[in-house]
Amino acid sequence: MSQSVWLSGTVDPREHGRRYSFTESFFPQFRALQLAVPRRGMQQMETNENCQFITYGSHNKNCYMVFACTSCQDVYYSSRLFFGKDAADCFMSIEGELLYECVDCQKCYRCAFCKDSVGCRESYFLDRCHGCVRCIACKNLRGKEYHMWNRPVSPEQYEQFVRTITSTNIMRTREEFARWKLSLPVPDANRLNAEASTGDYLYNVKACEDCYDVHGVQHSRHCQLCGLGAADFMDCNMCGPGDLLYECIGTGPAHRNAFSIFGVHTTDVLYSENCTRCRDCFGCIDLKDAQYCILNKQYTEEEYESLLQKIFGQMTDAGEWGEFFPVHLSPFAYNETIAQELFPLSREVAEERGWKWREVPAEEPSVTSLIPGASLPETADGIPNDIVNSVIVCAATGRPFRIIRQEIDLYRKMGLPLPRLHPDERHRRRVALRNPRKLWARDCRKCGKSIQTSYSPDRPEIVYCESCYLKEVY
Ligand SMILES: [Zn+2]
Repeated sequence: MSQSVWLSGTVDPREHGRRYSFTESFFPQFRALQLAVPRRGMQQMETNENCQFITYGSHNKNCYMVFACTSCQDVYYSSRLFFGKDAADCFMSIEGELLYECVDCQKCYRCAFCKDSVGCRESYFLDRCHGCVRCIACKNLRGKEYHMWNRPVSPEQYEQFVRTITSTNIMRTREEFARWKLSLPVPDANRLNAEASTGDYLYNVKACEDCYDVHGVQHSRHCQLCGLGAADFMDCNMCGPGDLLYECIGTGPAHRNAFSIFGVHTTDVLYSENCTRCRDCFGCIDLKDAQYCILNKQYTEEEYESLLQKIFGQMTDAGEWGEFFPVHLSPFAYNETIAQELFPLSREVAEERGWKWREVPAEEPSVTSLIPGASLPETADGIPNDIVNSVIVCAATGRPFRIIRQEIDLYRKMGLPLPRLHPDERHRRRVALRNPRKLWARDCRKCGKSIQTSYSPDRPEIVYCESCYLKEVY
């Protein structure tokens, strides 16, 4: 059903509530409930405004084709942004404004093609720079202004670069920069204010073990993409804020939840999906403001507690208790989820493991005029307004895509040309810029100390331990 029908409250998921049966184990009963409760066409929180085509986001406004973004405004084709404004084609960035093709950036303003940079402004092609202003193609710089290729330039030279941004120049600089930056060291892990923690992409964390992409997390293990005030999480993905979460996905704010998916303001919720403002619920789907429910059926407090004990016993005997939902309960195929992005598998391997795989043939656009991506205008000035009526063919994959009006406004504001690749291909290339969620043992290239790093030993980067890297850049 549509988001508006779902929000209208006219569908009551309790209508599908059912008595727990002890002649069958829990997971098949939960599966039957999954198939009975009507769902939203797209997973969205209640708090988005004018964001028809987004998934897994909250508190967003005027966003288009974004995934897992929070508190963003006028953001397009981006993934996992927090507090972003006026941005397109960004990934994993926090508190940015006027950003284009930025990955893992924090508090940047008017930047494009930057990575792992913090507090930078009006800059292009930065890598691991902090507090830099009007810099181009620089790496590992701290607090510099008017630099290119890590050397000082005049304001005129900077202006000259900005004035001559074209699709061709972007492509050329991108390639040149990727080669040049290999001559400068990288730290063993991406971290900022990370105390006693292991993993990668660790920001403002303390006592986190084997965690990746966590911001503002304490005392947690084996978590990914969690944050915004999280403590005592284990085996969680995209959760927070909250505390005491175990084996949860997309849950938060929440307190003491386990084996649950997309709980919002939930406390003591177990093995449930999409519940909002619920407490003391087990095996429930889509409930709002509920307490003491099992399989969407209402009980008294006493009935709930006693039934739950019996269910725990039965689940323990069946080997279900303490395990997350089996993969076949997912409505998605492996290759349709971010699992394929992070841990890519071939179709054969996924199917061998009994996981779904789905190939959907690309829809042919019903228009006669197709514009090849490579023949789009070179500059922002050349973008015609009526391009929104055209279908563009991706220069790399041949997939058709279109441009929206809001995007054009952003490109013009930033002086950037139109993208020539399909949004999925752009996203795929941004994902490829990041390290895998895996650590290898290596030695620091400078001091020889043993390090654990997400740079595999066969990669060409010069990897330093944290202390050698910090000595190098400060
Ligand atoms: Zn070292």
